[in-house]
Amino acid sequence: MFESFQNSLQSALKSLAGKGKLTEANMREGLKLVENSLLEADVSYAVVKDFMASISERALGEKVLLALRPTDQLVGIVRDELINILGPVDPSLHLKANGPTILMLCGLQGSGKTTTCGKLSRLLLNEKQKPFLVAADLQRPAAIEQLHVIGRQLNVRVYSELGAQDPVKVCQDGVRKAKEAGCNVVILDTAGRLAIDKELMDQLIRIDNRVQPDQAYLVVDGMTGQDAVNSAKAFNEALELDGVIMTKLDGDARGGALMSVKQVTGVPIKFLGTGEQLDALEPFRPEGVVGRILG
Ligand code: GDP
Repeated sequence: MFESFQNSLQSALKSLAGKGKLTEANMREGLKLVENSLLEADVSYAVVKDFMASISERALGEKVLLALRPTDQLVGIVRDELINILGPVDPSLHLKANGPTILMLCGLQGSGKTTTCGKLSRLLLNEKQKPFLVAADLQRPAAIEQLHVIGRQLNVRVYSELGAQDPVKVCQDGVRKAKEAGCNVVILDTAGRLAIDKELMDQLIRIDNRVQPDQAYLVVDGMTGQDAVNSAKAFNEALELDGVIMTKLDGDARGGALMSVKQVTGVPIKFLGTGEQLDALEPFRPEGVVGRILG
């Protein structure tokens, strides 16, 4: 995909440049193309503006006109800068040597939290760890059964409480059961809402304070563009996230939201969800998504 961006940039600049020579004005046309590409990929306007300011400075500051292949040079600058913004990478779950590591997954309803609990469990099983799932999404009754189905599929224990009202208690009891069972990673599947509301945030803050997860990850739906950015901002302000997992990048989404979410939260993008199956989880690599974002 990166090649197609490179080709369209190349042909746009070539047609502008006539004989293949570039002027500063033409370089600006090239930059415009980059800008449109990012906006089309659903990168938020403010992020695009900042990004364009930094690459324009670099592109126009370097001796572009003297370069042998100015288009390649511009593409290189854009690529480097995108990798820079999307990184640094940190796919580690930071498991503790002693005692269970508690991972809390949060996000809006439908973002893919419950599925991602299963995907992380599978990844941990592959690494010879002992995951344990806690069904603390009491908002969506089907989520508890969904987590049990995933647990049975993977042969991972799932803790839930029939008719439970208090997710904090479910998490605390779940952590205790995980310790008794000798499991070393507890994954909390928390409740989502269709939109951010105070009750949801208060509930998560209570779990965060009382259960003290070691890592809090936000699961965001990569198909939702600007909504993903808004929810990332709100969750990060309430919880101090440790990472983001972006799902549904197997579809048409260009992944521009990755760039905006990274800018807004400043926390690492840990994994990408690339399908409904439990093995469809990839550690995030900026190099892998640059071409996708540029289109
Ligand atoms: P939750 O409400 O946040 O727990 O979301 P779910 O885990 O129930 O996921 C909502 C829907 O998204 C389900 O139909 C999942 O199969 C689907 N889903 C989750 N992750 C992915 C993904 O990476 N790619 C695709 N295509 N679908 C996903």
